[in-house]
Amino acid sequence: MSPVEIVRVLPGFAGNVCGLRRGEVQLDSATLCGTYRGQVASHPAARRVEAMLVMARAKPMLLDHGPEEYVSALAAWAQARGMTALLSPYEFTPVREEARGGYSNSMEGIRPARAGSGAWRSVLAALEPGRVMLGWCCLLRGWDGRLGVLLGYPECCAAAYPARWERAKRESRGDVAAAMLSEWGLGYAGPFGWEANVFARYLGFELIQHFPCRPDCDATLRLARRNLAALRAFAPEIVEQAVRVLGAPVAFARNGGVAVFPGGLVMVEGGECVLTFDPRAALATGPLRPAVEKAEGRIEVTQSGFEAGGTEFDGWLIDFQKEAER
Ligand SMILES: [Zn+2]
Repeated sequence: MSPVEIVRVLPGFAGNVCGLRRGEVQLDSATLCGTYRGQVASHPAARRVEAMLVMARAKPMLLDHGPEEYVSALAAWAQARGMTALLSPYEFTPVREEARGGYSNSMEGIRPARAGSGAWRSVLAALEPGRVMLGWCCLLRGWDGRLGVLLGYPECCAAAYPARWERAKRESRGDVAAAMLSEWGLGYAGPFGWEANVFARYLGFELIQHFPCRPDCDATLRLARRNLAALRAFAPEIVEQAVRVLGAPVAFARNGGVAVFPGGLVMVEGGECVLTFDPRAALATGPLRPAVEKAEGRIEVTQSGFEAGGTEFDGWLIDFQKEAER
């Protein structure tokens, strides 16, 4: 669908949400479709799992975020591959978190998008133009649950996301996975299958793009396995890495730091829970890194979290090594 056609259809939807007042939302083609003109041969996002899944038609729509130049180039890249792409009606400032590997789970300063401002935007791209337009309306209206369904997320997880959002914003800077684990209580959590490990995303490994409603959500397990099968054909190196890193114990500090321990072993015995791991294989972000380095291959679960290298952290030791049963 051409930008001109999209501009003709969309004004009917422009309303008053996300703090944007009627009439403030710009519907010209540069604001909606990006400032890039011409073909884009390659884009960094194309090497990410999400774009690969969309290209393999295993995922119906892609959602990414970045500075205007990045999302504009991504929209042009997607359009050159037969997709429709639209940039978000708003621009924003991402809340980057060094403790989560620079990942951002929330945004601030939401304001109407202005082409040429260079600010951060979101971008949607899919083969079906109608899906992208509906997704754009969800961004405009703040319909996160419906957007999740359009992105191919399980309905149970898409519905759980907005329900947990307020708690996530209040307690963990928008990290919905932390809000989910809070319902489990602090300390040891598991064992769960590798399919629901969304924490490794902070270290650059992911197979699913949504926050599961529960770490043992059936629909999430099935989706992760489908994604793995779709990737196996054309990105076997990603599959190998994913199985090694996602099927590993994770230490997750509520307010800072994630660590993954490929090959590590969680032992639960007589009320005690201990992780033993190879320090050379461990991956960690932010404040957890020095503690993991000092831990000499051993982390103990405490009542409110875990102890690593002489420091206590509020949070969870999560075991993702449960073998698939279904
Ligand atoms: Zn679910």
